[in-house]
Amino acid sequence: MNASTAPVRGTEGAGAPLVVIDHVDKHFGELHVLRDITTTVARGEVVVVIGPSGSGKSTLCRAINRLETIDSGIISIDGHVLPSEGRELAKLRSDVGMVFQSFNLFAHKTVLENVTLAPIKVRGLSRKDAEKRAMELLERVGVANQAKKMPAQLSGGQQQRVAIARSLAMEPKLILLDEPTSALDPEMINEVLDVMVGLAKDGMTMIVVTHEMGFARKAADRVIFMADGRIEEEAAPEAFFNNPQSPRAKDFLSKIL
Ligand code: ADP
Ligand code: MG
Repeated sequence: MNASTAPVRGTEGAGAPLVVIDHVDKHFGELHVLRDITTTVARGEVVVVIGPSGSGKSTLCRAINRLETIDSGIISIDGHVLPSEGRELAKLRSDVGMVFQSFNLFAHKTVLENVTLAPIKVRGLSRKDAEKRAMELLERVGVANQAKKMPAQLSGGQQQRVAIARSLAMEPKLILLDEPTSALDPEMINEVLDVMVGLAKDGMTMIVVTHEMGFARKAADRVIFMADGRIEEEAAPEAFFNNPQSPRAKDFLSKIL
């Protein structure tokens, strides 16, 4: 293990937070998109991130998974700071599942292949074992009967559930979902949210960027409200929705509720 992946003191072990974000700053050129972000996510915790468009929610998610670099600060997962590149990065990144707004399935692979590809290639699972596990996961998200189809033959809601199954196939320690229902037709939103509520109940650690306040109330342990690259407010959902403290949060909630 090299220095860049050495455990961060105080962040190892079962009682420690799974994700530590410590004084993180990030610019895109002149634009200061993450400003002194500091928070932690406990094992099994479900954190919902909300805030106006452009407030840095996606950038934060991408930084946690090292799809974006950060200028300063520390992000660690299970006690390990993500290096910026190399084999260690690939390994540590597989600890984090990521589900995007635009399902991002491999268009030329079947549903089943989408779920087995990484476990076979990255984890070295046999095809048989990977397929057995994949079918269990497709069952769990309610699309096992679509396994042989190509993604384009599925509805948006089904595709997004496949994307969730695909991320679970790598047995991640954490799942990041960035507006997973924003691209869906309204009648498909609930089938995806139901899967997410199920994951939350099963104890999966989740960071979810969403405008679905019903999900936040039902499943979140904590809400993080971001505005202009800062964490403006962090609270339990009840407290946040019933009694927001910051003017920005009050204004935001008045527009969406
Ligand atoms: P959110 O997800 O909250 O809508 P983002 O994290 O996507 O916000 O974006 C935060 C800000 O950073 C926005 O002003 C956006 O335009 C800008 N931004 C995002 N990605 C890039 C990029 N790759 N290059 C330059 N600016 C970017
Ligand atoms: Mg975004």
